[in-house]
Amino acid sequence: MLVLDGKVASASVKAILLQKTQALKAAGKRTPHLAAILVGNNGASETYVASKVKNCEETGFGSSLIRFDDNVAELDLLAKIHELNNDKTVDGILVQLPLPKHINDEKIIEAIHPDKDVDGFHPMNIGRMVQGLDTFIPATPFGVLLMLEYYKIETKGKHVVVIGRSNIVGRPMSILLSGNRPKGDATVTLCHRYTPKEELIKLTQLADILVVAVGIPEFVNAAMIKPGAVIIDVGITRVEDATAKKGFRIKGDINYEQAITKASAVTPVPGGVGLMTIAGLLMNTMKAYEGKFYHN
Ligand code: NAD
Repeated sequence: MLVLDGKVASASVKAILLQKTQALKAAGKRTPHLAAILVGNNGASETYVASKVKNCEETGFGSSLIRFDDNVAELDLLAKIHELNNDKTVDGILVQLPLPKHINDEKIIEAIHPDKDVDGFHPMNIGRMVQGLDTFIPATPFGVLLMLEYYKIETKGKHVVVIGRSNIVGRPMSILLSGNRPKGDATVTLCHRYTPKEELIKLTQLADILVVAVGIPEFVNAAMIKPGAVIIDVGITRVEDATAKKGFRIKGDINYEQAITKASAVTPVPGGVGLMTIAGLLMNTMKAYEGKFYHN
């Protein structure tokens, strides 16, 4: 059983990026710069953004963290995005989701210039992705592709089952893996909350590669796994635990202890896809800087 280690795979991506930033610095040039916007003080969002900023530093990127109160007016947020869109020293912009209820996520995402949309959420970039054109691939599915690439896991001709159809994970993941592209060419079945459970179990039992992005801790158990399957666990849920130092533990969507008894490869949580998401984000930021695309 192979542990698909996000620490190892993301380190290899970051090493390539660090080489590039070192070369840029040696040539007296500026390095890629990521601007992250954080609204409010949601604990998980704070952790994600802090980790993104730290990873920028480790790879020689510049970064700025722009914070707003929970009650920020949508117009003020939009004004900041327009300012960053026009700032030539900023290559990538990300707005950490979720946003407070009074703010329209779609409006905010669409305000980011598509050339700086390093999370890959802008409808223009999603449209380009669907058509197989060069674009920013949404950071989490991109991270999964980088993981599959690093561990040389074949997708061509395989049956992939993706559980979850969100715009940021499940849906783009299913489109990419079924596409005519590197780490594509799979037959993909996309399941969601209205897939009857008995049918879902039958489908997952046929999956050579199972990608789970549901947000329900340990949703997938051993009975749902085909012997020898590759299991990609995207889920991250904070589960209260008084015995844990922080008062909670991070749980994935897979029952890891059960999965390792049947699968040929599994991503751990934490230490799997989360780290690859950051690698995908950094790759996109470098791509924004270079004005060209990774998979060319
Ligand atoms: P979401 O809530 O937007 O989507 C969840 C999906 O699960 C929905 O499409 C829904 O139809 C499906 N679903 C819900 N119940 C189901 C059921 N009983 N059977 C089948 N499908 C069901 O969530 P999301 O934003 O896609 O995130 C999913 C998980 O991935 C969360 O735990 C989130 O924290 C995590 N996540 C991790 C990363 C990372 O970097 N590792 C990035 C983004 C999200």
